[in-house]
Amino acid sequence: MSVDKYPEIDIPFDVRYTCLFCGEPSDETVNIPFSVDDINKTSHSPLSVPVCIECQSFVKKARCHSVYQYQKAVKAALTRKYQKALSIGSNWTEQELQESEFEGAAFEGFKRSAWMMYTIAKERINYTGWTLCLDGIPLVADDENSGFEFDGTRFVSVDHAVEHYIKTFHLDALLLPELVKLLGEEKFSYAIRVSRLYLSISAVERAEILADIAESLSEV
Ligand SMILES: [Zn+2]
Repeated sequence: MSVDKYPEIDIPFDVRYTCLFCGEPSDETVNIPFSVDDINKTSHSPLSVPVCIECQSFVKKARCHSVYQYQKAVKAALTRKYQKALSIGSNWTEQELQESEFEGAAFEGFKRSAWMMYTIAKERINYTGWTLCLDGIPLVADDENSGFEFDGTRFVSVDHAVEHYIKTFHLDALLLPELVKLLGEEKFSYAIRVSRLYLSISAVERAEILADIAESLSEV
């Protein structure tokens, strides 16, 4: 069933024609909630927001109950889709990439475009939009959790960061989440470093590593 466009959210002058979700230029809009079935569950009145074509496709697949939840769902989808581009910044610095001695046409092409792809993906994922108002009245935020930042990228949650770095560094899928649980979010960087030391491990080895870390924590 198609519905008419809902009232448009307030758009500051300097961000006219900008996707609310990723900051790319846009002249499309999308209804929030996207499905009319979700209107009664949504924490604010139905509204429409500017969106780029790509983010629109993510909005259409999500079932959320506020524009803030849609922002998180789109960010999570972008992080997944651009995992490879984002991983360039984890695996290289711009200078290393320039100075790397890999030869060949394929790698030259990669060098030229890789850092740009990384920068664009990171900027889109880190984009936070603007203060959301409808007819001058701010929309009440329904969730105080503002995500998790690591190495310059803001993730929707620690779980999404864990998922991202498992793919980026080909880490053991069970070790990193267990380490983060054990060490806490503040030691995320340490959890990654430990995980990168143990890339292919058995269940027994994994249990031993975790037991060692737990023991060293209890000694502090
Ligand atoms: Zn977008």
